[in-house]
Amino acid sequence: MNFFQRLRDRFAQFMIGRYGGTDMLGFGLLGIAGILIVVNAFARSTVLTPLEAVVLGFYLYRFFSKDIPARQKENSVYSQAALKVVRWCRNTFRHLFGDSNYKYYTCPQCHKELRVPRKKGNIEITCPQCGRSFRART
Ligand SMILES: [Zn+2]
Repeated sequence: MNFFQRLRDRFAQFMIGRYGGTDMLGFGLLGIAGILIVVNAFARSTVLTPLEAVVLGFYLYRFFSKDIPARQKENSVYSQAALKVVRWCRNTFRHLFGDSNYKYYTCPQCHKELRVPRKKGNIEITCPQCGRSFRART
C-alpha cells in the first residue's frame, strides 16, 4: 500500500460519522466563496478577505461536523429559501421580459408550477396534475 492509499484510507476512516459537504448549502457556500475570491482578486478589499474566511470556515465546520441532523436541518432551511429566491427571480424575469400576460402559481398540494392569464380577477385555479383547486387573484 503506497503513501496516498494510506492517506486516503485514514481520511475515509476519519470521515466516518461526519457530515461531509455535498449538499445544496455546501455547494452554495463553495459558490459564494468562489465568487468572493474572484471579486477580491480584483477589488483587494479588507472586508472580503475575512468574509471569505468565514464562509469557508462555515463550510469546513459543516463538512467535519458529527451533528448530522443539525446539518440536514440547515440544508433544508437553505434549500427552501434558495428555491423561493429562484422562483422570485424567474417570475420577475418573466414579468419584465415578455411573459407579462401570465402569472405563475405553485400548486399547494403537488408543487407543480401553474400558469394563468393575468387580469382575470379572483379566479379558481385547478391543478391539471393533481386536481387540487385554490383561489387566487390574477
Ligand atoms: Zn397539483
